Amino acid sequence: MAVAKRQPMDRIRNLLNAGHRIFGENRVQEAQTKWPDLREEYPDIELHLVGPLQTNKVPEAVALFDVIQSVDRTKLAAKLGEEMTKTGKSVRLMVQVNTGEEAQKSGIAPSSLGELISYCHETAPLKVEGLMCLPPLVDEPTMHFALLAKLAREHGLPALSMGMSADFEQAVHFGATHVRVGTALFGPRDESRK
Ligand SMILES: *Cc1c(COP(=O)(O)O)cnc(C)c1O
Repeated sequence: MAVAKRQPMDRIRNLLNAGHRIFGENRVQEAQTKWPDLREEYPDIELHLVGPLQTNKVPEAVALFDVIQSVDRTKLAAKLGEEMTKTGKSVRLMVQVNTGEEAQKSGIAPSSLGELISYCHETAPLKVEGLMCLPPLVDEPTMHFALLAKLAREHGLPALSMGMSADFEQAVHFGATHVRVGTALFGPRDESRK
């Protein structure tokens, strides 16, 4: 997946012209400024949300994205379930796991993952197709990839979203089905934009 956050439109169009169709964004608001128009031109785009989602943005996110990879709490799962029922639009879901148990990072703690998946399947009800992680910058990423792969196996989930520009090859080695590559495809982001 090409992560297009804070990238200029001409670079995104270059990738679309080359035939690429799977893209990721980390903010709902930024995604809304680019993708509704591009989708009219390229109806087969598959758009993933890879950044944190606030419950008040759920209607916009369900309307815009094909896959939401950042499900990480029951309140969010409940809202997503409600919105999909209300609108009849179904979005594919992955649960983000905070494999490094970092206080400031979104994602569910590995020890609470089972509970959240059960909630999604039984209460919401939502089908979770896989897991996503964003390892701590300071750690060797492979131990996080191995942990995420183990958790996915334990819960019988087929999709594994892990690996970015710096470590996607290692992630593939550990079984990634989705790698999220930004700068290695597009070049540096505009860091003056939030
Ligand atoms: C920005 C981002 C990426 C891509 O990062 P690069 O290092 O540019 O490849 C991947 N995943 C998430 C969740 C991101 O926010």
